[in-house]
Amino acid sequence: MSENFEKLKLIAPILKALKEEQYAHPTPIQEKAIPVVLSGKDLFGCAQTGTGKTAAFAIPVLQKLVESKNISARKQKNHNQQSSRRKIKALILTPTRELASQIKDSFDAYGRHTDLKQTVIYGGVKQSRQTAALNAGVDILIATPGRLLDLMNQGFVRLNQVELFVLDEADRMLDMGFIIDIKKIIAKMPLKKQILFFSATLPKDIAKLANSILKDPIKVAVTPPSSTVDRIKQAVYFVAKADKNTLLLHLLKNQKISSALVFSKTKHGANRIAKKIASAGITAEAIHGNKSQNARQNALDNFKTGSIRVLVATDIAARGIDVDELSHVINFDLPNIAETYVHRIGRTGRAGLEGVALSFCDHDEKSYLQDIHKLIAKTIPVVKEHPFSLDPSMHLAVKPQPRAAFRYRKKSRFSSKKH
Ligand code: AMP
Repeated sequence: MSENFEKLKLIAPILKALKEEQYAHPTPIQEKAIPVVLSGKDLFGCAQTGTGKTAAFAIPVLQKLVESKNISARKQKNHNQQSSRRKIKALILTPTRELASQIKDSFDAYGRHTDLKQTVIYGGVKQSRQTAALNAGVDILIATPGRLLDLMNQGFVRLNQVELFVLDEADRMLDMGFIIDIKKIIAKMPLKKQILFFSATLPKDIAKLANSILKDPIKVAVTPPSSTVDRIKQAVYFVAKADKNTLLLHLLKNQKISSALVFSKTKHGANRIAKKIASAGITAEAIHGNKSQNARQNALDNFKTGSIRVLVATDIAARGIDVDELSHVINFDLPNIAETYVHRIGRTGRAGLEGVALSFCDHDEKSYLQDIHKLIAKTIPVVKEHPFSLDPSMHLAVKPQPRAAFRYRKKSRFSSKKH
């Protein structure tokens, strides 16, 4: 089954785990990144969540650590040494608690047949469980910057044995103001180490940071997967702003919508939408930056386990949310940056599953829809038959542009407008 993974020269315990995960083929970012990491080179990966980027770094990090452990075990045997406590050999730094726990789950899954140990630390919760795990010794540490620095300052974490350092979602880290923390953390690691740097976008400050820490990196990029976008069934509803809530409730009557991630432009909007849905007797919660870590994680867990049907999110809060078998993405508000549309709808239709993306477009959002049509090089079909349809003059079609338009734009999507 994992024939293609075998071609990547992966070791048996990892191949076995991938088979159990039912991963038949590596994704493009995995195919490109895994050999680079195994060769020991620094990596500059341009990829976003949904492309399989976590496995693209987790798999080779695990393999490299297994190999380096085997070597040091042989050395220890030769010198008749007692085996000592595990030391942190790999550090994965990621911006949010949600991403950190998802990365930990990936390491648990792909590393389950190795004897490596990993733990995750993040803020917003008591530290005692985390420090106990650290004291017991770990090989791989997955962390958010704030809590990591805090525990480093308290003497619970030492990074002087780190061989591999992964900086995940670097653009988002900078966006969240973590640059100083990152620099402080890097200063505590040995100079000689392999660095894997991931960012979905390439604004100037990211290029500067990458240049300052990477040594002759191999660049690996994957563009938003157009095949995924093509596979997702898309539709747009022209509707007045004031009717959007009623249209959403009308659509949610359809039980085929088993799980829906609804995107709202603003945090307050997300709260209002979730309330409206809940008051109609449909299980829903909102997730956004104003909510506590615990509230966000609870809402996400409830959505993942199916105990709520609808999760309403802002773009920033939703980045990194990885829900298998999400049936629908609903754009309650259209994003003002076309790439964001592609990122949003890529949440559904994962791993070969079918997905549906429905978008509401009011009068003021027409130009956003035009931008999206240009970017995806096609016109999203319009649902005309619905109780709240707007004037048909709004039904616009745009001449598709060549596929090249799909590439990342130079400007950061964060630079234009805050969500
Ligand atoms: P990521 O981009 O790391 O958030 O991964 C997105 C999703 O793809 C996760 O649910 C992974 O479990 C899944 N995934 C990663 N690699 C593969 C693969 N080679 N085959 C099938 N699913 C995968």
